[in-house]
Amino acid sequence: MPTPYQAEKEHARQAVIRAAVLCRQVQAEMIHPTSTQKADRSPVTVADYGSQALICQGLAEAFSGDPVVAEETAEGLRRPDQTEMLALVTHYVGALLPGATPNDVCDWIDYGNADPDHRFWTLDPIDGTSGFLRGEQYAIALALVEDGQVQVGALACPNLPLALAQQDGPRGVVFLAVRGQGAEMIPLPKGDPWVNGSPARPIAVASLSDPAAARFVESVEADHANHEAHQSLARVLDLTHPSLRIDSQAKYGIVARGEADIYLRLPSAQNPGYRERIWDHAAGALLVEEAGGRVTDALGAELDFGQGRRLSKNRGVVASNGRLHSAILSAIQSL
Ligand code: AMP
Ligand code: MG
Repeated sequence: MPTPYQAEKEHARQAVIRAAVLCRQVQAEMIHPTSTQKADRSPVTVADYGSQALICQGLAEAFSGDPVVAEETAEGLRRPDQTEMLALVTHYVGALLPGATPNDVCDWIDYGNADPDHRFWTLDPIDGTSGFLRGEQYAIALALVEDGQVQVGALACPNLPLALAQQDGPRGVVFLAVRGQGAEMIPLPKGDPWVNGSPARPIAVASLSDPAAARFVESVEADHANHEAHQSLARVLDLTHPSLRIDSQAKYGIVARGEADIYLRLPSAQNPGYRERIWDHAAGALLVEEAGGRVTDALGAELDFGQGRRLSKNRGVVASNGRLHSAILSAIQSL
């Protein structure tokens, strides 16, 4: 019998790699004002749109029955004052899909505006857009959800070093996970995205159980998580290492491959009622679980991906190597 989800995993791997090629290209040539503000004032770039168009086009072709729930819409891009932006997006998408027209690009982006169903894909075409604009960390995150559970997750992190300890070493990583089949990492291939690069290597969380030695990661952006509460928690847990601030789901990748033990995301003080968006966590959460770790919300509940576009039943997120998880949840209760 074939291994479950092989076709989905292989598609997701190639999809995030192709999108990463586009994002790297945009970043390398970023001489133009490539970002505009969405209605909620968050930034969106040529690369967010291009990545979503590419990945949605591929999913529409390969899995035409599956809805895609993605972050961006082409509504703003179709406005007459965005013609220049749309031309740029079409240029970058056309490099990978020759013949793509501006209209195709908008339609592919909007293919990602479906509603969640019992089985659907969820996509963050660029997670950590602020990191992308700063030239730091960002991720392309694609996941398959069935009956509220993530089954396949793919995360491309084009700027992430293969090992954090070697900051001058090669950069660009793809993380992959399938439920029940473990988690793995491959170097992001350079050049032709269709050429198979190095073989995948399995990854696992660290086995640390002493909080004093634990390393934790959190958002760079202070309005995405509560840095003060994380500091209080660090004191309660006697963590000695300062936090590592990183944009995007690269944080999950870092915990999954054992370079940090804890990812904290307590709701920010400015927006305590915030409900996390599913595409910000689906791929990363499966990755940490399949690498042997645990992921819950701040109150210890499992993340429920079957509630629509947001994790409306959850508050914040805590990911860990598993061994430290109950200590963290107890410490949160004591805050
Ligand atoms: P990060 O790079 O981990 O800080 O997360 C980036 C993501 O944070 C974006 O994709 C947004 O969807 C999400 N975001 C925006 N506002 C908030 C908020 N108030 N709390 C938590 N996440 C947010
Ligand atoms: Mg995001």
